[in-house]
Amino acid sequence: MMRLVLLGAPGAGKGTQAALIKERYDLAHVSTGDIFRENLKNSTPLGLEAKKYMDAGQLVPDETVMKMVGEKLAEFGADNGFMLDGFPRTVAQAEFLEGKTKLDGVILFNVSDEAIVKRLSSRAVCRSCGNVTNLAEHDKCPACGEELYVRDDDNEQTVRSRLKVFHEQTEPLINFYRERNLLHEVDAGQKPDEVFACVLKLLNHDKN
Ligand code: AMP
Repeated sequence: MMRLVLLGAPGAGKGTQAALIKERYDLAHVSTGDIFRENLKNSTPLGLEAKKYMDAGQLVPDETVMKMVGEKLAEFGADNGFMLDGFPRTVAQAEFLEGKTKLDGVILFNVSDEAIVKRLSSRAVCRSCGNVTNLAEHDKCPACGEELYVRDDDNEQTVRSRLKVFHEQTEPLINFYRERNLLHEVDAGQKPDEVFACVLKLLNHDKN
């Protein structure tokens, strides 16, 4: 059983790796960003509240995110295997999670700011299957052939704010988890399949 956190800057490849890990290990996958986008699509009060922060490249307030994740953890049982992608993003969120369950590991996806700005300037997402791809190479989803769209918050100005927020508010989690001997680092500047090979090595090593 695995209880994992995927940690890394926006565009580090957490979502792409989460999809690959899920294919292999059948874990519950929680992406807080996906939950907010889904709520926004359905114009729920949560979605409308989150929108103002997302558009500005800021974090949704801890209280809102923790309530939402707390409900998710209760839904599938915090002691069962899961993978959190995009949560925690602040020390308060990490402490909250620590109070709920014991993690087996945290994978940190390392990639430079320049590479992220370049990546996100051409990132596109499939409207139908959610596959993340690149507009420089594809104009339709390479997985299912459906239409691609660009996330509202992937414009350069918002990406810069998201990176700043990552350095100021999320990076302290690196030491938080290092001190607890939970941190594993992966070079996420590589191609997705190369990154995944590193992830598999970590997970297989950790399994027992
Ligand atoms: P993501 O898809 O993970 O890049 O998240 C998109 C946006 O959703 C972020 O820029 C935040 O505005 C919001 N968000 C997602 N996860 C969190 C979180 N754990 N804490 C606060 N805000 C979040």
